[in-house]
Amino acid sequence: MKILICASEVVPFAKTGGLADVAAALPLALEQQGQDVVIAMPRYKCVSEKKFNIKSLKKGVSYSITGKNIKTYFLENEAYFNRDNLYGEKTGDYSDNLDRFSYFCARTLELMKEINFKPDILHCHDWQSCLAIIYLKTKYAKDPFFKDTKAILTIHNIGYQGLFPRDQFPQLGLDWSYFNIEQLEFYGQISLLKGGMVFADIINTVSPTYAKEIQTKDFGFGLEGVLNKRKKDVFGILNGIDYNIWNPQADKVIARAFSADDLNGKAVDKEDLQKLCKFPLRKDVALIGVISRLAEQKGFDLIAQDIEEICKMDLQLVLLGTGDMKYHLLLEGIAKRYPKVVSLYLKFDDELAHKIYAGSDIFLMPSRYEPCGLGQLIALRYGTIPLVFKTGGLADTVSKDNGFIFSQYNKKELLKTIKEAVKAFGNAKEWGGLVKKAMAYDFSWEGSAAKYIALYEKAKTKK
Ligand code: ADP
Repeated sequence: MKILICASEVVPFAKTGGLADVAAALPLALEQQGQDVVIAMPRYKCVSEKKFNIKSLKKGVSYSITGKNIKTYFLENEAYFNRDNLYGEKTGDYSDNLDRFSYFCARTLELMKEINFKPDILHCHDWQSCLAIIYLKTKYAKDPFFKDTKAILTIHNIGYQGLFPRDQFPQLGLDWSYFNIEQLEFYGQISLLKGGMVFADIINTVSPTYAKEIQTKDFGFGLEGVLNKRKKDVFGILNGIDYNIWNPQADKVIARAFSADDLNGKAVDKEDLQKLCKFPLRKDVALIGVISRLAEQKGFDLIAQDIEEICKMDLQLVLLGTGDMKYHLLLEGIAKRYPKVVSLYLKFDDELAHKIYAGSDIFLMPSRYEPCGLGQLIALRYGTIPLVFKTGGLADTVSKDNGFIFSQYNKKELLKTIKEAVKAFGNAKEWGGLVKKAMAYDFSWEGSAAKYIALYEKAKTKK
């Protein structure tokens, strides 16, 4: 099959979140399974020739090759994309995001004609690439070049919908008739995500449980009704993680490599992490790691409520993350008061993340909602036992067999589960068994890519 992946961020070129990991790893796994894949993304300032091997294709389009022969095409536009950030500044989103991403989507479809790549599947991700689907099904509906192209939309987080004021509608170059509540209108505004959902042949999201959750009022952010109408076309496929990057047996960053058969290295990594955190070097204390955006979605409202009690327990807690200022301030205060218990790193640091995944005993990820979640998958790979709230992808990947899970979102339940996990850690033999079991789970991309291929096949049968 010929597959066009259209995404606003792709690793290693540009990343703000999990979408970039998926948009890079899925194509690699698809190529390995014999598919013909190309990727399209905007040429941001960070996509520089100094950092990457980039060739020019023609005026306004350049490309780079990953895998065996996957071309990532960069759509260029000096005014729209040559900026410091992808979507906006600290003060808010760029005011011309509608123009920027409609340009990107429109040019992507035209590029397919220019390079004569007739996709069987147009696979878009989140609101930024939804216009490629919308244009395919409207402006290009009768274009023979795209007559066999089916569209798939993957929703990575339904909380981000690409909402724009109604008066920007003419900038899309679409007939006003599409601005209605069955198509692009959402309470008087333009919703690109809604448009993508309405026009896509198949909608999917990044875990089976999240696929069900977003069809409910509690998780749908107002779009549950649209999804409900399309129930039969809504699916969930778990993300994988890159097993080359996240590999405790060959991780160059950690103090000592290890495997499920030989966990001695993990003990060395724990000591290394304790040194770094200036914690007492104790084997018998549970070391809990957190690597996360500091946001309410990630359960920081609960962590904040419980933090004093957590710090009074016999454990060690290392936190790596950035996000809401209120959590920065709260955690800074706590780290000062409990220096032997809490070590805080308010930054984005990939190397430190590796060390925390490897050296911790428990990985705390009590997200309020979680489309898929990568942290718990990486933790499992490093034999670090996840402690999670039962939601979305966390519910699909963590159970009593490989972790600790609570199902009422409140501070009492979180605290109770932390106590339970710390107690379980005290039984070294049983804990060792749990670690080995956790490490035996397979969350590589291979299986997920095969499921995507099956979904593409299903899309091809749609009229
Ligand atoms: P998100 O909702 O933020 O995309 P995920 O769990 O899906 O959450 O993915 C987050 C990814 O980013 C994980 O790979 C995690 O290790 C990484 N990460 C998050 N915060 C940091 C940080 N401060 N430093 C390094 N890596 C981080």
